[in-house]
Amino acid sequence: MTIVDTTAELTARESELLARVPDGLFIGGRWEAGTREQIQVQDPATGRVIKRIANASPEDGMRALDAAVAAADEWAATAPRVRGEILRRAFDLLQERRDDFALLMTLEMGKPLAEANGEVTYGGEFLRWFSEEAVRISGRFGQNPEGTGTMVVSHRPVGPSFLITPWNFPLAMATRKIAPALAAGCTVVVKPAELTPLTTLFFAQLLTDAGVAEGVVNVIPTSTARTVSEPIIADPRLRKLSFTGSTPVGRSLLAQAGQNVLRTSMELGGNAPFVVFEDADLDKAVEGAMLAKFRNIGQACTAANRFIVHESVAEEFARRVTAKVEALRIGRGTDDGITIGPLIDDRAVASMSALVEDAVTRGARVLTGGNAPEGDGFFFEPTVIVDVQPGSELLREEIFGPILAISTFSTEDEAVAAANSTEYGLVGYVFTRDLARGQRMIDRIDTGMMGLNTGLVSNAAAPFGGVKQSGLGREGGLEGINEYLSTKYTLIPA
Ligand code: ADP
Repeated sequence: MTIVDTTAELTARESELLARVPDGLFIGGRWEAGTREQIQVQDPATGRVIKRIANASPEDGMRALDAAVAAADEWAATAPRVRGEILRRAFDLLQERRDDFALLMTLEMGKPLAEANGEVTYGGEFLRWFSEEAVRISGRFGQNPEGTGTMVVSHRPVGPSFLITPWNFPLAMATRKIAPALAAGCTVVVKPAELTPLTTLFFAQLLTDAGVAEGVVNVIPTSTARTVSEPIIADPRLRKLSFTGSTPVGRSLLAQAGQNVLRTSMELGGNAPFVVFEDADLDKAVEGAMLAKFRNIGQACTAANRFIVHESVAEEFARRVTAKVEALRIGRGTDDGITIGPLIDDRAVASMSALVEDAVTRGARVLTGGNAPEGDGFFFEPTVIVDVQPGSELLREEIFGPILAISTFSTEDEAVAAANSTEYGLVGYVFTRDLARGQRMIDRIDTGMMGLNTGLVSNAAAPFGGVKQSGLGREGGLEGINEYLSTKYTLIPA
């Protein structure tokens, strides 16, 4: 693999863009400087601070909730067509500002520019999809079985919602929550991740330009997520919590939400199995593996975590992926031809080193990579590791980085048992040419999503979400808007 120098200073274009990104808290339609020490946002490719922004206090958080509550009735009463048209304008504006959003994500999160562009497309689709869904919120109507009355089932916005997003997809995780909430008629407080808050601030500006009224969307970056979130979640005026992040934090938020019996949606961790059968099209499997493993530098909850490969093709599969991995170019995501950017921070780099060391101690072999290169930024070499033994951390932990770990199986039952031996159940990938076997695997692998002969399943029109400890609820698809609606049944006697 080629490692590209990452000591570049900001270009004029980058500085000009960063200067246009708001640096305040967005509360009740106004930008506020905040009173606490600012958050320093770093470029993970260089470790340098690229912007300082306001840091919400618990009081700021409560004022953001006040603003969302104050705007709730008017937004709920706004015609669905008007809500939809605002979201559609937001979609159009995002296309116009595509290059800015892509570059901003690369700067604060590190993903290669081509992938950041892909995220603008993916993230934008939630705006378009839910602009269309806003006018299709339907109900049911019918006679009761006794014939004594009419039953009417309708849907109402659930109410003020608190949306907590992670750092790995700064735009798409925001639009995947904000778009259905707004389409349903809910106002929101958004708490982006401290590591990548700039995209959400820039997006709040875009929503204002698209016509979103004051108080409907509020954004509160903070360095103290827990102390800012707790009082918001404890406030009885809040009606919904939607979270994307790690399972431990999700568990803690569910416990807090239990106090007020709050509606919740949880998109938590994954530990995706990637099963390759002996009859698979190996070229397709390798292509799928590169996408499922190295997209976003492996930092996706849908990333393939455990490559479970039939023993008769494991060596060949490993040889082919290793050749592909060695052709990757590591560097700052803004540079031409870069396919692997930095990890998000130094803790992530240390975690990759520890995972590799644990696996090697237990008998695994590194075919390529395995180290953090010298120099600036939070880089880790894309790595292929084989003969991963049961009990290795690589099989248990969500890797969240560019390590492709291969273990083998001999029978279909063994593959299913290995795939399901995790508390997670977000997504699974299966490669086989045998359709009946593919169908059996779809039935037997315990996940919310499956890819059959593909390494990428995400789509705004599909219900994204997991089973087991991967979460509750679905984002996107016809299902996505239901997370922000409550069902009301009315009986009208004949
Ligand atoms: P990740 O591993 O992706 O950083 P986290 O679960 O730590 O996952 O973070 C996801 C989001 O949850 C971030 O916005 C983070 O600030 C927020 N977060 C972390 N801990 C808490 C908490 N105790 N309460 C509320 N939000 C939190």
